[in-house]
Amino acid sequence: MNDRDNLLQNAGINTRLTHIGNDPSDYFGFVNPPVVHASTVLFPNARTMETRSQKYTYGTRGTPTTDALCDAINALEGSAGTILVPTGLAAVTVPLLAFLSSGDHVLIVDSVYTPTRHFCDTMLTRLGVDVEYYDPAIGAGIEQLFKPNTKLVHTEAPGSNTFEMQDIPAIAAIAHKHGAVVAMDNTWATPVYFRPLDFGVDISIHAATKYPSGHSDILMGTVSANARHWEQLKEANITLGICGAPDDAYQILRGLRTMGVRLERHYESALTIAKWLEGREEVASVLHPALPSFPSHELWKRDFKGASGIFSFVLAAEAPEKFKAKAHAFLDALQVFGLGYSWGGFESLAVHVNLNDRRIRKAPQEGPVIRLQIGLEDVVDIKADIERGFAAANAV
Ligand SMILES: *Cc1c(COP(=O)(O)O)cnc(C)c1O
Repeated sequence: MNDRDNLLQNAGINTRLTHIGNDPSDYFGFVNPPVVHASTVLFPNARTMETRSQKYTYGTRGTPTTDALCDAINALEGSAGTILVPTGLAAVTVPLLAFLSSGDHVLIVDSVYTPTRHFCDTMLTRLGVDVEYYDPAIGAGIEQLFKPNTKLVHTEAPGSNTFEMQDIPAIAAIAHKHGAVVAMDNTWATPVYFRPLDFGVDISIHAATKYPSGHSDILMGTVSANARHWEQLKEANITLGICGAPDDAYQILRGLRTMGVRLERHYESALTIAKWLEGREEVASVLHPALPSFPSHELWKRDFKGASGIFSFVLAAEAPEKFKAKAHAFLDALQVFGLGYSWGGFESLAVHVNLNDRRIRKAPQEGPVIRLQIGLEDVVDIKADIERGFAAANAV
């Protein structure tokens, strides 16, 4: 380990985000790494080619650009290795394909990202994997769901759209007792606010599309493994031929440099707005893990260092027949918030959440669920926009 690595290992998170990944002295002092576009890499002679005994051998197996990003993610996650894939969804599906076989049983949290459920219910089921969903509040009680063929537990905390926390260390301990791999979709917290591998998780998954990108213009996923699971993950990555592109890798590394300061603002603004919403008569409840009123808040407080900018609230409505009309009136009145999927960019977004796919935790009865991504705009303008939404919803 050189002086620079040593310094960075003990430095604060923003110092690390600023300097991890590439070392400028490796490339003529340029601050950023080169964007290497590659399929073919040349070998100096037949012997080197035969034994593949040089650092880079083919574009799918890494370049100085993708290595810079993977090294940065490894530093943040504390992982043995990281693979890049073209989307966050591929970052979920590749490890499921890497560690599951026909005849295996897999446990998936019920508050999982909807496209993950779709993959499990269609392709994974078709390949002969027995898929079972569990309550995010299950904790150590997950042991009752284990079968002799349970091979993997896929967690996501907080859960998508409803933000339930999970007792990750308790679930990981039970899973390991039964020889199962633990994967976690850690997109919400980013490694800045939660490091899954420190809490017993084996595989940490990110939609780098969200906060690492930060600008709503890149799709990319990262999967990081501990030493025990790295070889199998890497092997699956190469076998499937699913790899990240150099321009995207460059942009994600660029995004990481400012992710810490962006997250601070997202965290602060979102929490301010969540607290403000709690006091509004138009709101039945606010689903944000950093609020003491939130049912699994204690787990967030125990394990997480912060909160990102996305949460939901239940817009109060008298009767289910009015849910959709009220939600649409609220959304259509917004001028600062955009109506769009995904999150983690600089701009505020709102969406009416559909929870019809839930098996265990059903949708709230008090009204429609609206998800807000709080962007980097000024809080006063965001509040004024939400006021516009409330006025329109009240008129329904
Ligand atoms: C957005 C998201 C993904 C998928 O990311 P894409 O790059 O859009 O495919 C996966 N997991 C979670 C929790 C997400 O929010």
